Amino acid sequence: MTEPPSPTARREELRSALTAVHARIRRACDDAGRVPGDVTLVVVTKTYPVTDIHHLAALGVVDVGEARVGEGSDKVAHCSHLPLRWHAIGQVQTKKAGALARWADVVHSVDRQRLVDSLSRGALASERCVEVLVQVSLDGDPGRGGAPVGEVSALAEAIAAAPGLCLGGVMAVAPMGVEPEKAFAELADVARRVRADHPGAQVVSAGMSDDLEEAVACGATHLRVGTAVLGSRPPLR
Ligand SMILES: *Cc1c(COP(=O)(O)O)cnc(C)c1O
Repeated sequence: MTEPPSPTARREELRSALTAVHARIRRACDDAGRVPGDVTLVVVTKTYPVTDIHHLAALGVVDVGEARVGEGSDKVAHCSHLPLRWHAIGQVQTKKAGALARWADVVHSVDRQRLVDSLSRGALASERCVEVLVQVSLDGDPGRGGAPVGEVSALAEAIAAAPGLCLGGVMAVAPMGVEPEKAFAELADVARRVRADHPGAQVVSAGMSDDLEEAVACGATHLRVGTAVLGSRPPLR
């Protein structure tokens, strides 16, 4: 076992990683003729300790992402003094939607009607308003989460109509073995169609540590970046 870094060393490590990611985003925006202010960095803190979130908040991070309902809930409880916006980015079991609605400000991963219904009930029960993105499956493989492209407009409609929820936009993960540019260009098309019906649904959540440049080039408004800021995660058990 190696010693964990001292708190100061860890904060400096995170500071320099964040600076590097912001520089990548700025360059990608320059190349795409976009302004960095139009792109929100969501730092994905899943599997990392809550002390890292405290460091990130001190470094000016506002948007953080968690993948698991229970882990997110625990961390939110230890960060209530901080002005953070919590993004839920992982696949959600329907029965956990009520618990999720208690802490998530934005849920990126809604891909079926039953989840819309449960989140809506949960949001009402905890008297919160939850922003919801439709997760789009760009390869039609339902195992990895995401609604097939053909179901997106009906889901968007259902979210927009659901009490306690508001429709933020769309999200996708670039499928394995597909060039990210191609995947994100398709997502941009889906986003345009959703916006035609719901002008307020401006969010396009795409791009992770390895493909954020491609996502910015295709119009992403939100990047979900974990390892490039926090380091490699230990493999999930
Ligand atoms: C873990 C995760 C990320 C962050 O991935 P990195 O490669 O660590 O940047 C982004 N999106 C989703 C849906 C994730 O589960």
